[in-house]
Amino acid sequence: MAGEVYLDHAATTPTDPRVVEAMRPYFTEVYGNPSTMYALGAMADKAIEEARERIAAFIGAKPEEIYFTSSGTESDNWAIKGIAYANVKKGRHIITSRIEHHAVLEACLFMREQGFEVTQIPVDGEGLVDPDAVRKAIRPDTILISIMHGNNEIGTVEPIAQIGRIAEETDVVFHTDAVQTVGKIPVKVEQLKVDILSASAHKFYGPKGVGFQYIRKGTRISPFIHGGGQERGKRASTHNVPGIVGMGKAVELADAEMESAAAKLRGLADRLYKGIRERVEGIRLNGHPTLRVPGNVNICVDSVEGESMILCLDMNRVCVSSGSACTTGSLEPSHVLLALGLPAEVAHGSLRFTMGKHNTEAEIDYVLQEFPPIVQRLRSMNPLYKKKA
Ligand SMILES: *Cc1c(COP(=O)(O)O)cnc(C)c1O
Repeated sequence: MAGEVYLDHAATTPTDPRVVEAMRPYFTEVYGNPSTMYALGAMADKAIEEARERIAAFIGAKPEEIYFTSSGTESDNWAIKGIAYANVKKGRHIITSRIEHHAVLEACLFMREQGFEVTQIPVDGEGLVDPDAVRKAIRPDTILISIMHGNNEIGTVEPIAQIGRIAEETDVVFHTDAVQTVGKIPVKVEQLKVDILSASAHKFYGPKGVGFQYIRKGTRISPFIHGGGQERGKRASTHNVPGIVGMGKAVELADAEMESAAAKLRGLADRLYKGIRERVEGIRLNGHPTLRVPGNVNICVDSVEGESMILCLDMNRVCVSSGSACTTGSLEPSHVLLALGLPAEVAHGSLRFTMGKHNTEAEIDYVLQEFPPIVQRLRSMNPLYKKKA
């Protein structure tokens, strides 16, 4: 294989060269501040409004319901804290799940320190949240439900539309972290019945450091970044013009190519998972067999540490993760895998492959050739491993 085999698209994606081209003029030519009155600023302003319209159309929203942020993490933090602070008069109860990304998880735990109450809904063995459990958790003082759309580790896609209907009936604000689904599977806010939705450009071939937040018109939310009057007074700071333009271009490309890419990703994921199953014993698939983000294969490998497999694959120039990149370096097993009911020692043997639109069957076949001997070698060094007859 020439170059690395990159199978970690849930951590980040390469920026599409067409996105880079679209961004280029906004660094050196159209560098005006979009909040100024002269033509150079107005040109930048026009570009960000075009990106806003494109993003709004892509998720079935109105342009004035789209707010630009610096990341998925910021969008998630803003949703949790902004809704909580704006609605304290109604109550202090937040409902979320056990398998959220750290951006939601930690923001909720912070709000708990601020005197809010947080209920974490458990998931089943395949990572699904039961909408009925959400319904039962709702109280008169519940102000927010935050359940992710697609899980970044195991890929499970949650029944957001069903939960959305419950939130609507009970008049509770509903947020979803759609960072893993926007640009990969159809995401329409009316169909999902969400009030707030968070996304990040670098997860769908856009640049890093830019994201957006959909906020349904009429939703009470406090600003998160205070300053100038940008983004209708809700999110201050000078716009990241090249980033926003790049995110708009990435959305345009996803709109045109997402469907064919998803079919290809499902094929590659199938080839990888089946191939591993045929060659290595003691493999367990984590997450839902069908309701999952295309291109995600998360497995537990019996009697081998995830970290050891990552390092060995890296020596063969294959990039993968165990759990989420954000927890790398910590020896705690993934909270998502533990929530599935896996014992800690099983969760430690997890490996996440996430395919992208540029991956090929030849790359998958290369991994299928390199991976089994790695597992065999690592198992041979583990005195506790006993080959099953
Ligand atoms: C990557 C990710 C985030 C964080 O987005 P950043 O733009 O990297 O801050 C949040 N939620 C999920 C599900 C993610 O996969």
